[in-house]
Amino acid sequence: MNFVVGNLTEPVFRPPSEWDALLIAVTNGCTHRCTFCSMYRTKKFEIRKEIDEIKQEIDLARSMYGNQVRKIFFEDGNAFTVKPETLIEITAYCHQVLPNLEKVSAYAHAKDILKKSDEELADLARAGFTMVYVGIESGDDEVLKACRKGASQDDFELAAQKCHRAGIAWSGIFLLGLAGNDPEKSRKHAIESAKLINRMAPPEPIPWYISPLTLEIAPGTELWTQQQNGAFQMGSFIQILEELYTMIEHTDDHLRNCVFNTNHASNYLSLKGELGDQKQAFLNTIEKAISHTRRHNHNW
Ligand code: SF4
Repeated sequence: MNFVVGNLTEPVFRPPSEWDALLIAVTNGCTHRCTFCSMYRTKKFEIRKEIDEIKQEIDLARSMYGNQVRKIFFEDGNAFTVKPETLIEITAYCHQVLPNLEKVSAYAHAKDILKKSDEELADLARAGFTMVYVGIESGDDEVLKACRKGASQDDFELAAQKCHRAGIAWSGIFLLGLAGNDPEKSRKHAIESAKLINRMAPPEPIPWYISPLTLEIAPGTELWTQQQNGAFQMGSFIQILEELYTMIEHTDDHLRNCVFNTNHASNYLSLKGELGDQKQAFLNTIEKAISHTRRHNHNW
């Protein structure tokens, strides 16, 4: 259960692994409008200007939850639009007030990471900011353009390497199914995503995280409209598993410390482990799931 202090505007989202974090709003909504994403459609984007008010909320969390708070997640969709000096000030204050704090994280868009200098990111890490969750979705520039992600494969690689250098842990989220049901496009989406995973590997063996989710088409999005008018069709169950297989198959055999995780509720198959070590085991599991589905003639 999350720790909250009444500072949030609904709807509120956070990564599954932040289920026990204190949620502190530093922005409302998201600056982007990706075609598949319904998360912040009802919110007008704003950066919260009242730093003192945010600090009071952190004080309130201290008085409500004492030393229980070990994690903080900065809301909303793109906290990295906030100026670096403000993020640094808020992060440092969190650690000052909450002595047992171990993790401070946020969603971040690659372009907003790239706008910050190496020095600013390193200062943020020194202040105690520990992890960014970045919605990458695909390594395929065509897919990224079609879904209006606002970033390219090159941008994601540069942003990941910047975070590695600064000491901010990188958690990248991909979206299986985003290329639709065309087998060639689906395969390219998987191969280019693997290529990007390889390019994002840190030069030093520090932990980093890759989590493919599976597309769920939400009403009210552009992708929903495209599905209704036949311009986009979701791939089958087997095609999604094949995408996952191809993505893993094309990752470098020597990736180190890459924690790979498909245990999000949207996924058809749950895999978790270190990608370099578990690559063959993951492929075997996916292969079994595909042949089991085929054997039982499931029409997925
Ligand atoms: S950047 Fe993330 S939160 Fe914002 S619209 Fe795109 S997918 Fe949604």
